[in-house]
Amino acid sequence: MLVPRTPHQPDRPAWDCLACGEPWPCAPGKVELAEQGVVHRRSLRLYLESCVIDMIDDRADGHHTSGRDDAIYDRILGWLDASQSDPADRATRRAG
Ligand SMILES: [Zn+2]
Repeated sequence: MLVPRTPHQPDRPAWDCLACGEPWPCAPGKVELAEQGVVHRRSLRLYLESCVIDMIDDRADGHHTSGRDDAIYDRILGWLDASQSDPADRATRRAG
């Protein structure tokens, strides 16, 4: 699995950014994740999907996390879908 090389990592269980304190993934974190996702997009998606599950787990365990319960998927993965612009990758996902 891709291990993102960025200081903008989630601070569990609050899920705010360790580097800038914004709700993760923060704007600079998304930029750095997207740059690495150009090469490893499937790995980036797997990583973010695992983060969605971890965040849901943290909430289920009673931790207070930033943001709304019903927006976890959009928050962590929605921006990636919106940023995907590689035609070859879109074709692969249609076929898959
Ligand atoms: Zn950050």
